[in-house]
Amino acid sequence: MEFFLADEAEMVRCGEQLAQAVDAGGVVFLHGDLGMGKTTFSRGVLRGCGHQGSVKSPTYTLVEPYETPAGQVYHFDLYRLGDPEELEYLGIRDYFANDALCLIEWPEKGAGLLPTPDLEIQITVDGMGRRLSLVSNTQKGADVADTLLKIRNTDTG
Ligand code: ADP
Ligand code: MG
Repeated sequence: MEFFLADEAEMVRCGEQLAQAVDAGGVVFLHGDLGMGKTTFSRGVLRGCGHQGSVKSPTYTLVEPYETPAGQVYHFDLYRLGDPEELEYLGIRDYFANDALCLIEWPEKGAGLLPTPDLEIQITVDGMGRRLSLVSNTQKGADVADTLLKIRNTDTG
C-alpha cells in the first residue's frame, strides 16, 4: 500500500489518520533516512491520539512516553543506540507488554531485540513530497492498514 504526501501538513494528517485506524496499540516501524519525515509522521499520530503538547524527537533519550486520551504511546528514536543490547537496560520488554502503541524510528539499530512490527512504514522522497509504503506483518497490522485506506478514501478535508 502506498500514499503520496505532498507536504508536511499532509504527513501530519496521515499520522492522525493512522491513529484513528489503530484500536488496541501495536508496533510500527518507521524506516527512512534522516529528514524523511518519521518524526513529523509520529507527531501526527500523537495528535490523532489526542496529545495536545509538543512532540520532541527522542534522539538522546531514545524513548519518550506519552499518556494520551487514546492510550499509552511510546515514541522511540534508536538512531544513537550503539548496540541493540542497550535496549535491555531500557527495560525494552515492558514497552511491548501491554496494549501500548509503539512508534519506532531507526528500528534497524535495535535488530534482534524488537518484536515483529504489526506495520512497517518506509518513507522516501518523491519530487517535492514523500512516498509512504506500508507493509503489514500481522493480522492486527493488516486490519490497521485496511482501516487507514478506508479513512483516507472518505476523508477529503
Ligand atoms: P526524520 O524524523 O525522518 O529525520 P523529520 O520528521 O524531522 O524527519 O522531518 C524532516 C523534514 O521533512 C521536515 O522539515 C519536514 O517539514 C519535512 N517533511 C515531512 N513530511 C514531508 C512531506 N510529506 N513532504 C515534504 N516535506 C516533508
Ligand atoms: Mg526523527
